[in-house]
Amino acid sequence: MLSIDLVPCLSDNYAYLLHDPVSGAVGIVDPSEAPPVLAALAARGWKLTHIFNTHHHFDHTGGNIPLKEATGAVVIGPKADAHRIPGLDTGVGEGDTVTFGTETGGVFDIPAHTTGHIALYFAASKAVFTGDTLFAMGCGRLFEGTPADMFAAMRKLEALPGDTRVYCGHEYTESNGRFALHVEPDNADIQAEMVKVRALRAAHEPTIPSTIALERRTNPFMRAANAGELGARRAAKDSFK
Ligand code: ZN
Ligand code: FE
Repeated sequence: MLSIDLVPCLSDNYAYLLHDPVSGAVGIVDPSEAPPVLAALAARGWKLTHIFNTHHHFDHTGGNIPLKEATGAVVIGPKADAHRIPGLDTGVGEGDTVTFGTETGGVFDIPAHTTGHIALYFAASKAVFTGDTLFAMGCGRLFEGTPADMFAAMRKLEALPGDTRVYCGHEYTESNGRFALHVEPDNADIQAEMVKVRALRAAHEPTIPSTIALERRTNPFMRAANAGELGARRAAKDSFK
């Protein structure tokens, strides 16, 4: 079972520090920047072995080169965007597996936010890293894909076991939840979740991880009936205050 620690980066990004206590492997998912990751490693006395990226955006890859230079860690990311992932060593896509210490991660292609966007799923540790595709109660903007792409991505993620923990790229939960309540004002699960989320954020605590089961009940994009409805909701969220 991996330990997974949040490493806050930039203004609202999370990188995730992974540790396999059996092998000593240490990974970071989506390092926006190197300094907070290096500080987290130093505090634990760990040496970084793996860098994982979900997609090419700078706020998910900005730490790749300095971390690779400092530690010699290998960089693993979406092969569909290999030319845009700094320092990439191994490109992966749908159906590939990644070996991390004694754990094996599965890879899903979930394009929509960007052309090459992957999810990493560690079944034994009940954890999925969803980057900027699936957020707690939300989804990423459609910069390089279509509502149909995002609808398909949601079907892959929705199919994971309900107790899978969802680790996404940003702390957007409170804003997402306000929009979710706008879409489904009578949804008791969203109402209850927002009580928890508002309390956590008032205390400056993270709301991550969510779970797949919670997203099925509260996420207006996972709950959209078809690509058209998802696209209309995404367009409404883009201008939602
Ligand atoms: Zn992004
Ligand atoms: Fe991002």
